[in-house]
Amino acid sequence: MRPLAVAALAVLAAAPPARAAVNVVAATEDLADLTRQVGGDKVKVEAIAKGYQDPHFVEAKPSFILKLAHADLLVVVGRELEIGWLPPLIQQSRNAKIQVGADGYLDASLSAKILEIPTGQITRAMGDVHPLGNPHYWLDPENGRRVAKAIADKLSRMAPGDSSYFASRYADFDKRLTEAEKRWDAAMAPYRGTKIVTYHRSWPNFAEHFGLDVIGYVEPRPGIPPSPSHTLDLIAEMKRQNVKILLVEPYFDLKTPNSIGRETGAKVLVMTPSVGGVKEATDYFKLFDYDIDLIVNAFKETGAK
Ligand SMILES: [Zn+2]
Repeated sequence: MRPLAVAALAVLAAAPPARAAVNVVAATEDLADLTRQVGGDKVKVEAIAKGYQDPHFVEAKPSFILKLAHADLLVVVGRELEIGWLPPLIQQSRNAKIQVGADGYLDASLSAKILEIPTGQITRAMGDVHPLGNPHYWLDPENGRRVAKAIADKLSRMAPGDSSYFASRYADFDKRLTEAEKRWDAAMAPYRGTKIVTYHRSWPNFAEHFGLDVIGYVEPRPGIPPSPSHTLDLIAEMKRQNVKILLVEPYFDLKTPNSIGRETGAKVLVMTPSVGGVKEATDYFKLFDYDIDLIVNAFKETGAK
């Protein structure tokens, strides 16, 4: 055997066994992508809810239980976003590592800035699906940064041998996000203060970050379908305030939005709140790239200000 081959064999024999990747299940594709951003090839990540599904109402499938049964870490959006479908799946997985409160359960909302926290008594009995504040917080890049940091820190505690890897992946993500934010902020800057209406309350963090003014919603309350009287009030208000843009999440029926659009002259724009909501939104960066390109073009087209 030639010396080089012998040396190669010796190296192979001496190499420690590859460290197993951390198995992560994320409740949504947004959290799955943030986990991949900081976890790289030291994690295996799967998402439960698809980006084109309403994350409040996901059909629980037996295959999800199997995924959860093998998970080391479960990352959830929290604020009761997943309360309608995730708790039974966690329970049926019989995986002690990822039960609520266990080490392998990470509530991403605990590291995020949360808006619309109710001051009075709000219960789900009233039909409001945002009883603990707005759970669509990942649509502010600053919250994406905070959540990515929380995930990187959690992974470091779970796999201390890879902690410097996770730290450097986070640093790189942070740098790329800062660069992207400059681009997004510049594109949106001319439209600060523009009034819009949205179907669901998915966009308060996005609106706050980019300075948009959401003056109304097609839903009377989060999770409550539009009613004729609310729709008439909304049409009157949109006419009064000259609102030119109506944002609709991809999973809502367009019938009411289209009739509002006809009555008011507003453009109905289907804009995805999640990675995977449209084929172009393949990761956290492309989600903002896609949405900002879409809304800026609509602002230009409608002359919205
Ligand atoms: Zn919601």
